Amino acid sequence: MRKKTQLIHGGIGMDAETGAVTPPIHPASTFKQKGIGNFQYEYGRTGNPTRHALESLLADIESGAHGFAFASGLAAITAVMKLFSSGDHIIVTDDVYGGTYRLFTKILQREGIAATFVDTEDQAAVARARTSKTKAIFIETPTNPLLKVTDIRKLASYAQAEELLLIVDNTFATPYWQNPLVLGADIVVHSATKYLGGHSDVVAGAVVVKDEKLAETLAFIQNATGAVLGPTDSWLLMRGIKTLGVRMEEIETNARMLVKFLLGHPNVSRIYYPGLVEHPGHATHALQARGFGGIISFEAASEEIADNVLNKTTYFTLAESLGAVESLISLPAKMTHASIPEDRRSALGITNTLVRLSVGLEDFEDLAEDLEIGLTVF
Ligand SMILES: *Cc1c(COP(=O)(O)O)cnc(C)c1O
Repeated sequence: MRKKTQLIHGGIGMDAETGAVTPPIHPASTFKQKGIGNFQYEYGRTGNPTRHALESLLADIESGAHGFAFASGLAAITAVMKLFSSGDHIIVTDDVYGGTYRLFTKILQREGIAATFVDTEDQAAVARARTSKTKAIFIETPTNPLLKVTDIRKLASYAQAEELLLIVDNTFATPYWQNPLVLGADIVVHSATKYLGGHSDVVAGAVVVKDEKLAETLAFIQNATGAVLGPTDSWLLMRGIKTLGVRMEEIETNARMLVKFLLGHPNVSRIYYPGLVEHPGHATHALQARGFGGIISFEAASEEIADNVLNKTTYFTLAESLGAVESLISLPAKMTHASIPEDRRSALGITNTLVRLSVGLEDFEDLAEDLEIGLTVF
């Protein structure tokens, strides 16, 4: 099955009982047992048929064996972190999503799970950060908002040789463009709130693995900690995933044209987009993914211009989040990455003039005109 077909026909899909072409929403919290211990579903936290249909679809589209749906991306990452114990150490990509950084520094650290943040593009830096306590490497590629790229294959073979788990947050590239499990990663996580849902109407998270033992442990953790995705949101997510392929193709077409537009603009001093040949991670990304996505970051020539573009655009909505049909604009330093201390932020290059676009499905001409207005200061 090819990619777009899989998004529609993967997982369980149809309802076998009625022939309905979409799985039904089962709100039931409990299920009648045929006899004690004789059941397919028992209790809604442990398993729900709608969530199960979504989880089987998630497993298929990430080329894994088992999928798990959670109440948010951070709930998914938190569940994965329950694989580790006090005393363990994890190496983490230095410019991870702000909420992930906060989870590692404010919650997991308190629980005795230490993290070292390094530029995971640099394998020597990863090796230097490794201690006898290290159990895993957690990466994002491309990263948010600087779109730095880590070579998944290389890091996977390092992780395997050193007996570390490689966890990849694949939110930005999406399973349509990139499949970390195929490249050797052990665990894929998603904020399904973003491209998988795709319509800014559901908050959800996903974990996918290929290893049976890991799947068993994660199923135990999912049930034991309980941050599961509800049946209605599970259904909404399946509905969103069906159009992931066409959305990503169209979003990328818009993104490429907007990059061209920004390249020629006098009030834009630098552009971050993995599709640009001069982008530092371009070659690596092209080897491990089939597309470059819809996130563009750029440096406005001044804070005044950055402010102007954030306040004057009409179709680019000033909002957090990304990956939906509507285009969004944000200033990471003051929004998504505000939970990262200022000195760390500037060391990473997340400046007060760095603007991030999440390109949507509007007409390119409207988006370009919108940015032109924002980038013009009278
Ligand atoms: C949004 C996001 C998260 C967190 O997901 P939520 O669904 O908001 O909890 C994690 N990783 C990345 C890359 C994200 O963009």
